[in-house]
Amino acid sequence: MARSFPRGLAAFTLAVSVVLGAGAAGCARVPPYATSAHPAAPPTAAPGQQVSLPALPAPGIPGGIWTPNPPPTSPPPTSPAPTSPAPTTATPTTQTTEPPTNPAKPPANPAKPPKTTKPTRVNCAKVKCIALTFDDGPVPQTAHVLDVLKHHQAKATFFVLGELAATRPALLRRMVREGHAIGDHSWDHSQFWHQDAAAIRREVRRTAAAIRRATGSSPRMLRPPFGESNAVVRRIARQEGMAIVLWSVDPLDWRDRDTDTVIRRIVKRARPGAIILSHDIRPSTRRAIPEVIERLQAKGYVFVTVPELLGGRLRPGRTFSQR
Ligand SMILES: [Zn+2]
Repeated sequence: MARSFPRGLAAFTLAVSVVLGAGAAGCARVPPYATSAHPAAPPTAAPGQQVSLPALPAPGIPGGIWTPNPPPTSPPPTSPAPTSPAPTTATPTTQTTEPPTNPAKPPANPAKPPKTTKPTRVNCAKVKCIALTFDDGPVPQTAHVLDVLKHHQAKATFFVLGELAATRPALLRRMVREGHAIGDHSWDHSQFWHQDAAAIRREVRRTAAAIRRATGSSPRMLRPPFGESNAVVRRIARQEGMAIVLWSVDPLDWRDRDTDTVIRRIVKRARPGAIILSHDIRPSTRRAIPEVIERLQAKGYVFVTVPELLGGRLRPGRTFSQR
């Protein structure tokens, strides 16, 4: 990634990352549709470190640093074109792998929440709880992740993109049905620091609406793209009834797409009460999950959702990166 990145721009990115603060790294620096043209990311946050940005809009930060939007000539391999929701038959790869559902017909009663598995009733004050989170999906292969979680009786939290969630309501319903939690990760992974408050709010609301249509419930958690938060984002989260959920363990799976590396980093850095960042859109990450769960369960960890991890502390406008 960094190889093709012009040296001058790389230096500039580093400078920008300093401006943004070292904690600005992490969650999905690379949007799901980004390619090798995406620049290297700045250093990552220390565990538990809060990230913050200058007040929006960030002055002096030109566009193109993160190149969020793919060039029109390189369509994403796994995600459908976000701007073309109209019915089409030209996307067999995504349609055929979607879990059984009737794409032509919305859920019979979308307002009715699906039945969920019983709450785990884990007391995280006494048990070694840990929260695994998956960002940037759902993709069709998220179903495999759900299979693994079910097999290991592990709960997780999915921070979904609205543009993908809107096309895969069945997956979201399955998440809820199987006891997982769903959070809002913006509509299309845009850079909040380039947007004004109204645009950020639209992203958050549009995604929340997609989640609500699919599951019957509104999300109570927001994870801003790139984990970038500031006073504007916090205010919007509070007004929209969401807490901001970041993470304390970042295996850098969005950058280092090596399964063994991802396993090693997560297992090594896991702590009771930790929130682990990962990306179900990455094949290398999906392959890591079974062993991550097995090794941590062998150490006595119990995988819970973020709301379970935080208990009753999940309040709108508050920010969490661990228990
Ligand atoms: Zn992300």
